[in-house]
Amino acid sequence: MELRDIPVEGWRRVVHVRDRAARLDAVISVHDASLGPGCGGVRVFPYSSFEDGLADALRLSRAMSFKNALAGIPFGGGKAVIIADPKDKTAEMFRAFGRALNELGGLYHTAEDSGVSERDLQYTHEISQWVGGIAAGGKGGNPSPYTARGVWRGIEASARCRLRRSDLRGLKVAIIGVGAVGMALAELLNRAGAKLVVADVNPQAVATAVKRFDAVAMSAEEGVGADVDVLAPCALGGAITKERLVRLKASIVAGGANNQLATPDLDEAMRAMGVLYAPDYVINAAGVISVGLEILGSWSEEEMTGRIDAIGPRLLRLFERAERERRATGAIADEMAIDVIRSKRAA
Ligand code: NAD
Repeated sequence: MELRDIPVEGWRRVVHVRDRAARLDAVISVHDASLGPGCGGVRVFPYSSFEDGLADALRLSRAMSFKNALAGIPFGGGKAVIIADPKDKTAEMFRAFGRALNELGGLYHTAEDSGVSERDLQYTHEISQWVGGIAAGGKGGNPSPYTARGVWRGIEASARCRLRRSDLRGLKVAIIGVGAVGMALAELLNRAGAKLVVADVNPQAVATAVKRFDAVAMSAEEGVGADVDVLAPCALGGAITKERLVRLKASIVAGGANNQLATPDLDEAMRAMGVLYAPDYVINAAGVISVGLEILGSWSEEEMTGRIDAIGPRLLRLFERAERERRATGAIADEMAIDVIRSKRAA
C-alpha cells in the first residue's frame, strides 16, 4: 500500500492511498482536528478523475469540521472518498482502507456515506478500530435513519418559521435522491401526511418511493422546479445551482445532502429571493452525532432522540439570527462553527 501526503493549506492532513492488489484508490482528508480526531463518512463514487475525488474530499471534510463543531461532539472534520463504482466494491478494498486508517493512527474515524454499507465497514473494522456506524449490541449502526430523522425535524422547524405551520400535513416536498437518507426521509414525511415528489437517477428507487408513498415521480430537473413548499436535496452535492435557482418554486430548501450549494454565493442569493435555506451541515448532523456517540461509547436511544430533537430548535435560533441581522443562514452557521473551533484552539 502506498500512502502519499498531499500538502493543502488550511487542512491538517490529506493523503492519497493506493493499494493496487486491493484495487483501492482513495483520499483521506482531515480538515481541522482542534476539537478532536477527524470524523466523517467514506464515500464510494466513480469520480471522473483523481482531482475531482480530491476536491470532493477537501470540500466534504471542511464541512465536517463545521458540522461536528455545531453538533457539539468532540471531533474535527474528516472525510474519505474511494474512487470506484459502488458496484465494483470488494471486501479487500475495505480491508485495505482499514490498513490506511491504522497508518493514520486514529487521526481519522470513518463511517458510512453514499455508496457504502454497514457490511462494507465491517470489513474495515476487521482491520482497524477507527470505524463508527457499525451496530454493536444494537447501538448506533448505519447513521442514515438518524440523519433522516434529523432532516425531518429540520423540515418541521423550517415550515414553522417560513410557513407558520405547526405540522406537515399536506406540505408538498420534493426529495431529490431517494437513497438511504432520502428514502428514510420519504417514509417519515409520508407518515406525517406530507405530499411527495421524488426524483432519482436510479429508476428502481423512484419506483419504490412511488409505490410505498404514493409519490409523484419526476426527473431531478423537473423536481427542482416543481410546485412544492420544500425542496429536499438528498443526493450528492451541488444540487443548488444558479441556473436551477431561477426555476425554484419552493420557499424552503432543507435536505440531507452534504454540500448542497454549487457555489457559496447561492446562500445569499436564496436569502435575496426569500427562500429559507436550512444549512446542510446543520440539518443533516444526526448521522455523525450517532457515529460520534458510538465511538465515545455513550450511545443510547434516549441520548439520540434528545440530540435529534435539538436540531429543530438549533435551526430556529439560526433562522431568527439571520432574520435579525439580515444575513444568509449559511453564513451565520459558518460563523458560529468557526467561533466554536477558535474558542477551543484558544483554550
Ligand atoms: P445514497 O447513495 O444511499 O443515496 C443517494 C441517492 O441519490 C441514490 O439513490 C442515487 O441514485 C441518487 N442520485 C445520485 N445522483 C443523483 C442525481 N444527479 N440526481 C438524482 N438522484 C441522484 O447516499 P445517502 O447515504 O442517502 O446520502 C445522500 C446524501 O446525504 C449525500 O450527500 C451524503 O453525503 C449525505 N449525508 C448522508 C448521511 C448518512 O447518514 N448516510 C449523513 C449526512 C449526510
